[in-house]
Amino acid sequence: MFEQALPLLESYFGYHSFRNGQEQAIRSVLGGRNTICVMPTGGGKSICYQIPALILSGTTIVISPLISLMKDQVDALVQIGVPAAFINSSLSYNEANERIDAAKQGKYKLLYIAPERLESPDFIEDLKSMDIPLIAVDEAHCISQWGHDFRPSYRHIQYMIDGLPQRPKVLALTATATPRVREDICRLLDIDERNTIITGFERVNLSFSVIKGQDRVKFLLEYLKQNEKEAGIIYAATRKNVDQLYERLRKEHINVARYHAGMGDVERAQEQERFLEDKASVMVATSAFGMGIDKSNIRYVLHFQLPKNMESYYQEAGRAGRDGLKSECILLYSPQDVQIQRFLIDQSSDRSRMSQELEKLQQMVDYCHTENCLQEFILAYFGETDTEPCGRCGNCTDSRTRIEVTRETQMVLSCVIRMGQRFGKNITAQVLTGSKNKKVTEMGFERLTTYGIMKEKGAKEVSDFIEFLISQELIGIEQGQFPTLYVTPKGKDILLGKEQVYRRETLQVKQVSKNDPLFEALRDVRKRIADEEKVPPFVIFSDAALKDMCAKLPKTNEEFLQVSGVGEHKLQKYGLEFIQAIRTFCEEHPDYKSELEDEPVPKKAAKKEAGDSHLETLKLHQSQLSIADIAERRELAISTVENHLLQCAQLGMEVDFNRLIPDEYIPLLENALSEVGRDRLKPIKELLPEEVSYFMIKVYVYYISKKK
Ligand code: ADP
Ligand code: MG
Repeated sequence: MFEQALPLLESYFGYHSFRNGQEQAIRSVLGGRNTICVMPTGGGKSICYQIPALILSGTTIVISPLISLMKDQVDALVQIGVPAAFINSSLSYNEANERIDAAKQGKYKLLYIAPERLESPDFIEDLKSMDIPLIAVDEAHCISQWGHDFRPSYRHIQYMIDGLPQRPKVLALTATATPRVREDICRLLDIDERNTIITGFERVNLSFSVIKGQDRVKFLLEYLKQNEKEAGIIYAATRKNVDQLYERLRKEHINVARYHAGMGDVERAQEQERFLEDKASVMVATSAFGMGIDKSNIRYVLHFQLPKNMESYYQEAGRAGRDGLKSECILLYSPQDVQIQRFLIDQSSDRSRMSQELEKLQQMVDYCHTENCLQEFILAYFGETDTEPCGRCGNCTDSRTRIEVTRETQMVLSCVIRMGQRFGKNITAQVLTGSKNKKVTEMGFERLTTYGIMKEKGAKEVSDFIEFLISQELIGIEQGQFPTLYVTPKGKDILLGKEQVYRRETLQVKQVSKNDPLFEALRDVRKRIADEEKVPPFVIFSDAALKDMCAKLPKTNEEFLQVSGVGEHKLQKYGLEFIQAIRTFCEEHPDYKSELEDEPVPKKAAKKEAGDSHLETLKLHQSQLSIADIAERRELAISTVENHLLQCAQLGMEVDFNRLIPDEYIPLLENALSEVGRDRLKPIKELLPEEVSYFMIKVYVYYISKKK
């Protein structure tokens, strides 16, 4: 049966090869095995059941938790000529009945249903009279209480299957499943754990970066200006933040939509639609937005504030670049956010989870401070350790020079102290730049020796610099009615001349993808067709398909079929219009050659040249300093110091690891390893007391247990 898979992939979907994991999943299902498939967002899970659905006789049922998602998926299938429908609460009683009748007559290859339907005995009866070869359970983690989105109605799936006259095969799909959740899925859906298909979690087309010590709003506005043609999401922490940013961006005439739980259902749905249909290019939202958003052409996800943990962050950021094209995930870091998140955790009722949540928050902070590869940091967090630097992220590509700013720092710090550590950032900047502002003179600040010592700079520039010092934790912020500045112990060392301060040049805002006149022209064609057909543009063609058209410049039907994402059906429907647009364009621009880059290929990036920083760490370690001491002395995150030591070990240098794990943990580690093996760190971690860090586990797994 599998022989049909590739021809179907070509003729319906217009893709020329399977992605990592797809072929194994399809073979497993066609081989009659219940299967679980774990792939990152955008990895291409849908194909894993859609191709078998086309091959097997009867109607494949797809359980999907989100109404908006169902509609888009069905639209996309109908677009390529696959008979499909969905049944959920958005339909009227009559509409639903019509579709059920059609399904009973075998009119659909795929039928998407919401899990709540399974609670209706009538509906179960209806299913019994359909020919169902396969049940695909999308977002399968919803079945587990340990997952992040438990849906009790998922528990009816197995009950439904048990009632069917012919037992269908089951394919469970998810992007996020810890070992514990995977176990649950397998147990509850009767899947043999050996039939697990799991691909790595790396997203090769995403580049992560952390921006700190810069004015966030300024960065954001510049970024949006550079990328105004692209779609993106900005996540903010609270409803109020969302509303404020929304108003601010509207003032700049940016075409922005917003989404948070405080808005009415109707307005929220409208805003979501405007974004999906490319009518608004930017969505400002709280984390309430995004579940089940399948929009494939999101080019950037920008976090305006620190998320509470890595799970949320990777999921939200991962909504960028589903189409496989290069996209960016940017986190704007400011230390104040940490205090706000701490406060929120403190307020939450569940005391028992507090220390765990604080630890997760700390890891998020470590992420913001690491100087190593960000993608690797994320993968390690999820237990993937056999990785290499990505070569794409902000840290891997950082070539900015560092300039010493110790003297300026001392000026600011001493001014903060002279002002009594009771004032905010702006007035401090005004004093330093010698402003004649009323408040400055009223307080008598013009008599301070630090008044005007930075007058060659602008107040805004100095205020940005203070922001940088906050990000370096040389200045702290006392929250209150008005946040006030104080000098931290680390800052005092600078004042005493014990340490130097370096600052990187400000980051230049880049464009995520280049402008291309033909791409724009094709985008317009796509938009017009989408409006006529009342579907989101990405359902007509993905950005990746348009880019491929720019590269291949197809002028005949045969050539058009060669474009990735063009199958028979779309050729018939849209070939003419797009070919016509390409021809016209080429006549008007005879010298045109696409400068858009190719889809990034999942190859491992070359190892980044290591600086000498790790050697410095090793030297201090050899002089018997603890990791915490080294981190403090070098002003690095603990995780960075840990990574340095691991790096040294990998490079074959002598590292005394025995000092890094308290003796009493050794037998625990030994036991854990004998129980779950050494392949994945996460299961080991779950067996150990919380104080045993991933770092200790790594050290034990890779260096100590091997020597024994
Ligand atoms: P997931 O459900 O895993 O998040 P999707 O199934 O929505 O991912 O697929 C993400 C994108 O990748 C879609 O735009 C899809 O058309 C595209 N895609 C899937 N498989 C392939 C393939 N073999 N070749 C090229 N593109 C593919
Ligand atoms: Mg999916």
